[in-house]
Amino acid sequence: MKAWSAPVVPQFELESPLAPQRLRVHDTSRAQLVEAGPAEGTARMYVCGITPYDATHLGHANTYVTFDLLNRVWRDLGLQVNYAQNVTDVDDPLLERAQATGQDWTELAEDQTQLFRTDMEALRVLPPDNYIGAVESIPEVVALLESMKQTGTIYQLDDPEHPDWYFTCSEAPGFGQVGGLPESDMITRFAEMGGDPERPGKRHPLDCLVWRMAREGEPAWESSLGLGRPGWHIECTAIALDHLGAHFDVQGGGSDLAFPHHEMCAAEGTVATGEPFAAAYVHSGMVALDGEKMSKSKGNLELVSRLRNQGHDPMAIRLALLGHHYRSDWEWDPEDLARAEVRLGQWREAVELTSALDVRPVIEKARMALRTDLDAPTALGLLDGWAQASLTIGGDDTESPALVRDFVDAVLGVAL
Ligand SMILES: [Zn+2]
Repeated sequence: MKAWSAPVVPQFELESPLAPQRLRVHDTSRAQLVEAGPAEGTARMYVCGITPYDATHLGHANTYVTFDLLNRVWRDLGLQVNYAQNVTDVDDPLLERAQATGQDWTELAEDQTQLFRTDMEALRVLPPDNYIGAVESIPEVVALLESMKQTGTIYQLDDPEHPDWYFTCSEAPGFGQVGGLPESDMITRFAEMGGDPERPGKRHPLDCLVWRMAREGEPAWESSLGLGRPGWHIECTAIALDHLGAHFDVQGGGSDLAFPHHEMCAAEGTVATGEPFAAAYVHSGMVALDGEKMSKSKGNLELVSRLRNQGHDPMAIRLALLGHHYRSDWEWDPEDLARAEVRLGQWREAVELTSALDVRPVIEKARMALRTDLDAPTALGLLDGWAQASLTIGGDDTESPALVRDFVDAVLGVAL
């Protein structure tokens, strides 16, 4: 599938010898900071993509800007990055929305994916190297399921009407470690998140659907498992293994994906390959509006496209997101955007100076912050300090304004 277009990321060459030379991030499964990515070579990251049935809201934007920051911090450390992301372009919510609005589901998916691409371009999110739709990944999903069928780790339900295929997740080594929930909580949450713990005939309530046999009026594909379509979790598992291989560095997404989605992907991947699925599971916080998490079902959304259409600079939207630590849950407040616009204006003014305070120690500290669990708010505060002092007191370093422009562009993804 076509990804969005790439802004040029110039490597920022300034050395910062005191900053750590590895990135540490919070791994949900170990509940601590861990080194993420290799010391050199290629880091591999998978971030769960959208189900394209409605426009990109700030909760999505927050997730993709978070993992864009991670991607850029790795690049700043001199690593190559292999980044994969899916588009769940066939799934129940998409098909239901298409039916409710009388649209063709493939057109709805393509229209909404295109809007997402436009939003990501505006926010200067680097595109994934592998941007893969669920529909185009069906051969890989089927191949993975065939190998799991051989090992007896998937089974067909004894249901004459809908003999769907399920994965025996609860038997997977380490099952439960990503979300860290006791089994009773897992069952409750599984039901809340579209799972079917009470379906008769399953071997265990937490076993997850991997191949849904065709229902009337639904799209379906021929396979050796029968005519049907993939379940949600197996789609990401197959795409990640196909494009990144086993035991890749980071699986990322919003914190609402830790369980069941990432738990199930981890279980499927571990059972299918005999190796851990991802080395770390990294989750961004939730963005609320009117006191509740932004969600399509509640309708309390602020859209990136709406803010852009109102004339807000996408770079200010990006700064408003980066102003919150990625792991915190926070509530959207238009004042945040107003403050980000002031900050952006100040930075733009400061990089136009012919001379300023020496920014090298500031960049070193900003890198320390970013390499320690992506602490963007601290990095932004450090740059504020440099900009304000340079604008009020001044300085005699003629290279610093350009250094700031390049650093902010390459590492924070903000064009000044
Ligand atoms: Zn996923």
